[in-house]
Amino acid sequence: MSSSTMNRRLEGKVAIVTGGASGIGASTVHLFLEHGANVVIADIQDELGQALSDKLGDNVCYMHCDVSNEEQVSDLVDSTVAKFGHLDIMYSNAGIINNDFGSILHVQKEQIERILSVNLIGGFLVAKHAARVMVPNKKGCIMFTASACTKIAGIADSSYAASKYGIVGLTKNLATELGLHGIRVNCISPFGVLTGSAIHDETKKAMFDRIMGEVGNLKGKLLKAEDVAKAALYLGSDEGSYVSGMNLVVDGGYSVVNPSLLKAIMMQ
Ligand code: NAD
Repeated sequence: MSSSTMNRRLEGKVAIVTGGASGIGASTVHLFLEHGANVVIADIQDELGQALSDKLGDNVCYMHCDVSNEEQVSDLVDSTVAKFGHLDIMYSNAGIINNDFGSILHVQKEQIERILSVNLIGGFLVAKHAARVMVPNKKGCIMFTASACTKIAGIADSSYAASKYGIVGLTKNLATELGLHGIRVNCISPFGVLTGSAIHDETKKAMFDRIMGEVGNLKGKLLKAEDVAKAALYLGSDEGSYVSGMNLVVDGGYSVVNPSLLKAIMMQ
């Protein structure tokens, strides 16, 4: 691979990033653009999304899209194809959390429905309409953001965990169905990353960094949105051209280790 190909790993590709106005999505928009893609930021935070698009220039644009609304998702895909000619990468990343780490004893039905409608049904709709335009081209790449809570229990509340487990099931099933049409489908499962408005709050940031530094398995490093974006770049680029049906966990090993025995021994 030449160095220019290494530096522009998405040259000529067209990507949509849902939830692209903030956090992991915004970092991915930056990285995809750097690597030569035309990128559509799809979000419901219009001011933030438009400002990011204005800052990044002509190869990026913002489109309002609530992923739980099928008409808006369909329009997003059609408008992208009308503007840029085709669609190569759909990164279904938009997601929400419950603000409290709620117990099943207290969770409201509306809360469960809200989480599922954005995180899971939104993912379905986004994949459905991406597939609609990718299937005739016999190629394409669909990715989702799931969560490390799909690999280890106890790090998220149950409605969020259920929504993200659903995404892993969707990924695997679609990898089978859409593989027949040359389309790859994968998901990325990050550990905790400070994103959203919390990033501007120094007290929250210090607390988050301290806790994640303490519990994280990989010492000396905290997970950043940019690290998750790099996983999306790998899966979206030709370097991941035979990778499908994968849940790429970006958690520094957190979900596969249990340091409690080692800690207890060291404390003797
Ligand atoms: P974020 O809040 O910074 O970004 C999420 C974006 O999604 C926001 O811009 C928001 O406006 C948008 N969004 C919310 N509802 C939407 C809807 N209905 N339609 C379209 N856009 C919508 O948070 P983030 O941490 O960057 O989250 C990105 C993804 O990563 C989410 O799916 C989240 O569940 C997942 N995730 C985050 C973490 C973490 O610790 N931050 C860990 C694992 C997984």
